[in-house]
Amino acid sequence: MPGADLPQRRDPYAALAATGEALARALRAAAPGPDDGGVRAAVDAAAPPTPRSWRDAVDALVDRADATVRPADWLAPDLLARRPCTLPWTRLELFLDDLHGPCCVDFQRRPAAATGALLARFRSPAMRAFRAALAGDGPPATCRPSCPRLRGRSDALDHLVVRGGPAAFVANQRAVVEAIVAGDVDAAAITPLELSFAATSFCNYDCLMCRWGVDGTLADERPAAFYDALAPLLPGLARLEVLGGEPLASPVFRDFLAGPTLAAHRHVRVALTTNASYLTPTEQARHADVRFEHLTISLNAATDATYRAVNRGLTWPRIRGHLDALRARRAATGWPRAITYSMVMLRANLHELEAFAALARRDGVGVRFMLPMRDRNDQSFLRDAAAMADVARRLRAIADDLDDRDARRARGEAEVLDDRLARGVLRPLPDDGDDVAAPVRLSRR
Ligand code: SF4
Repeated sequence: MPGADLPQRRDPYAALAATGEALARALRAAAPGPDDGGVRAAVDAAAPPTPRSWRDAVDALVDRADATVRPADWLAPDLLARRPCTLPWTRLELFLDDLHGPCCVDFQRRPAAATGALLARFRSPAMRAFRAALAGDGPPATCRPSCPRLRGRSDALDHLVVRGGPAAFVANQRAVVEAIVAGDVDAAAITPLELSFAATSFCNYDCLMCRWGVDGTLADERPAAFYDALAPLLPGLARLEVLGGEPLASPVFRDFLAGPTLAAHRHVRVALTTNASYLTPTEQARHADVRFEHLTISLNAATDATYRAVNRGLTWPRIRGHLDALRARRAATGWPRAITYSMVMLRANLHELEAFAALARRDGVGVRFMLPMRDRNDQSFLRDAAAMADVARRLRAIADDLDDRDARRARGEAEVLDDRLARGVLRPLPDDGDDVAAPVRLSRR
């Protein structure tokens, strides 16, 4: 009987075993190979001998925090091609106005509100609609054609990685993969691998393209009770992604980071999108034990002059000091695992795209380019066909020298520009929910 040779161990997800067994059989059947599991490349180099099946490989991750498994190594190419975005199964994003979904509202066709328990929101009608759309054939009706994650396939099933850790954590990841493979719309047997939320709308900067420097307020700061309510998710959670405003402007969030909750769940990694102004060396030391998986630093500039013009916050030398301290900490401890410099491409900084990529390369960090949403301070270049064509060309040239994921994101943005030019769409993003003229190409990269 498939799976009968699995070791017996305490498994908080044991009630889901029958479903998991059936799906594991489907996984094995989807990838015929030289042995009974169709195993090609199983676990990383530190793993025990090659496992015989998908379930063996995943079970081998228990209590091995640095081990990983790629489900794509077990799955047939046609199935991988049919799951262009896995976020509706892996991720829940919450916004301060109660909108929710698997991703940024600007990528969603019709963002919907939801309140109540976090798990109820993960299983809401809107989230079910995303799963149905992403498990179906053809362009997903829930998603805007301009979604760069969809166009760049940055979150396709091919790129999903299962991480080692406590048994409940590994079991949830296994169940999530099996739910994706099965096209499970209900997601009743899984909890999200990633929770993304804004800690507050307040920001201490006033960036040209962002309203929160003016409109943000600490009055909407998530209270301590919000962090208490994370408890049901933490055993199965891989990552907390915290946004703003400026997330570190929230004292409640900073206390949560430094408090006992994360210390008791070491498998939960934290990702922040931050302007880094609060990441003083002292504050970095206070959070030294936090597993920062990824810090995305909103720099938006490669030079002092452009930083001053675009970001309107701390001085460039002070931010450089924070970045240098972060890089030194990473070199010494391995944390944060990754740092990415992020640029929203604006009229005021388009001349620095290549310099920005070069800065990131010099600093040994990743780089992310984003198209502007809306047209605050007349900074969108999406009414200018010549500028759009120029940026698309330059992004592709830059992408040739980037790491795989950064390159996919950059090419995804270039593809959005190409598509708008081809359709003669010359207006700021985001599009109306009904702007669906262009079929989304779902080809694998
Ligand atoms: S394809 Fe884009 S809009 Fe759809 S769920 Fe994925 S990230 Fe969100």
